[in-house]
Amino acid sequence: MDSPPLDVIRTDPQVARHASFTLHGSGASGGIAIGYAHLVSTARLEVPQYEIAPDEIDGEIERFDSAVTQVRGELVGLRASVPASAPAEMGAFLDLHRMILDDSMLSETPRELIRERRCNAELALVQQMEMLVARFEEIEDPYLRERKADVRQVVERVLKAMLGTGHAPPAPAHEENVVVVAHDFSPADMILFKQHQFAGFVTDLGGVTSHTAIVARSLGLPAIVGLHHARQMVRENELVIVDGAEGVLIVNPDERVLGEYRLKQSALQIERQKLKRLASTPASTLDGTPIELQANIELPDDVESALESGASGVGLFRTEFLFLNRDDLPSEDEQFEAYRAAVEAMRDQPVTIRTLDLGADKTVNGADRGGPNPALGLRAIRFCFAEPQMFLTQLRAILRASAYGRVRLLVPMLAHAHEIDLVFQYLQQARDTLEAMNVPYDRALEVGGMVEVPAAALAVPLFVKRLDFLSIGTNDLIQYTLAIDRTDDMVAHLYDPLHPAVLQLVAGTIRSAVKAGKPVAVCGEMAGEVAYTRLLLGFGLRQFSMHPMQLLAVKQQVLRSDLTEAEALASRILRADDPEKTRQLLGRLNA
Ligand code: PEP
Ligand code: MG
Repeated sequence: MDSPPLDVIRTDPQVARHASFTLHGSGASGGIAIGYAHLVSTARLEVPQYEIAPDEIDGEIERFDSAVTQVRGELVGLRASVPASAPAEMGAFLDLHRMILDDSMLSETPRELIRERRCNAELALVQQMEMLVARFEEIEDPYLRERKADVRQVVERVLKAMLGTGHAPPAPAHEENVVVVAHDFSPADMILFKQHQFAGFVTDLGGVTSHTAIVARSLGLPAIVGLHHARQMVRENELVIVDGAEGVLIVNPDERVLGEYRLKQSALQIERQKLKRLASTPASTLDGTPIELQANIELPDDVESALESGASGVGLFRTEFLFLNRDDLPSEDEQFEAYRAAVEAMRDQPVTIRTLDLGADKTVNGADRGGPNPALGLRAIRFCFAEPQMFLTQLRAILRASAYGRVRLLVPMLAHAHEIDLVFQYLQQARDTLEAMNVPYDRALEVGGMVEVPAAALAVPLFVKRLDFLSIGTNDLIQYTLAIDRTDDMVAHLYDPLHPAVLQLVAGTIRSAVKAGKPVAVCGEMAGEVAYTRLLLGFGLRQFSMHPMQLLAVKQQVLRSDLTEAEALASRILRADDPEKTRQLLGRLNA
């Protein structure tokens, strides 16, 4: 598919082929994108779909067979190279993948499909995978049901092996004019888009604070999740408008609508340009109270945009993204280099490195221990305790990086005092190893905890006694307080940062931390939403961490905020006993 440049749109008679229609979802990342739809068949890879001539069938089957053979070789090689320190499941997982690959359902049936349907090998394989995955979904046993993820991973490997070996149409040429339409993306898929320059993304599934949506926001691209039927209803190359703020997708817009959105788009661009002037302005409220605005990053390269936005440090480095999209685990040295790169690039600004938050929607090959309810299962620090070698490796890498700048260590999903104690034991063990080898590290490294489980928010004294600082992860705090899976679009409408229970927990955590004299930040998505800036200031928050893309808009709001007024209205909002009243007061606060 090779999309024409956008200025051709208006004169291209093909574009108006189908009637215009609109789909509504949840706006995951603001801004407006206008471009051609590019449908992505599987989550991970763009799969070309085309018919082949009868005399091409044998060659196509050969292409498929050699990809399978190549992947078999890769799996055997990987199995042989599993290090002794790798999690126990690693080897078993590779064996399982080998078995899946060798099953005739995957290695034989697609050959028949190529012959019968005269379709390309990628399409045959994906169709077979979809059939298998549907069968897995019917299995009652949760463990077996989840093996569908393994089937997908094996298929993705084979697809990768086939890439470049067919007559597949090239990837869209003018990426900046392309809107990617998919049924779903995993956070791992989304991070791969950092290497592309698409205009926007829309998906059928997902909630606005899923990690997929968070990464979309960090890309600064308009995105909509939870559209339900976009993948089915939108056709390849149709002209679409993504209104990421409103969560509206307009397919085949008419001239008038197109014109309106072009105007809106330019107005937003001008606004963004203007905001850039604030990058070097210190953030403080109208009365001169300084406010820390820091950046959330996923990969070391993101520090570039953190610095551009004038962030006063990294408030959250989601290190688990270093572990995605690969079949092995990053070694201590590899991690150390990544952390050091971020720390050095930030110069004397602090970099808050969060220990692995794997599990739930971020799974790593070979160590997927999702369990029946992944968000409540072996996730984040619980996962690390279950994989001590992996945890110790990361702790050593972070400690080593601490010799090169101002590193702070942040631990996710803590709920119990004994978990904090155990973190310190592991940390000591990591320090001892480095001491024994004479490796330098910062002996005064600060250790903080994320408050993202209601139990933690209700027991802050227990945390501040043991830790140097706190960071409130509102994404999870809201998920766990309101009992809604943040990745599930079916319950996305219940996700409400203004729910009184959420506000009580956030305000209470800030109050208790301030009282104990311990720094407290918010690093969940609430911190990057201008609508909540004054509310959080009014609760006493002085440290915010968010995507670099959001930082300047939040700074502008801080610069225009009156603390006394914010405090008065925030305490009225806390006492409000009706959602309507809350919204009305918030409207006044933001006026
Ligand atoms: C949060 O839960 O608010 C948070 C910042 O962590 P994550 O989004 O990575 O779960
Ligand atoms: Mg979290």
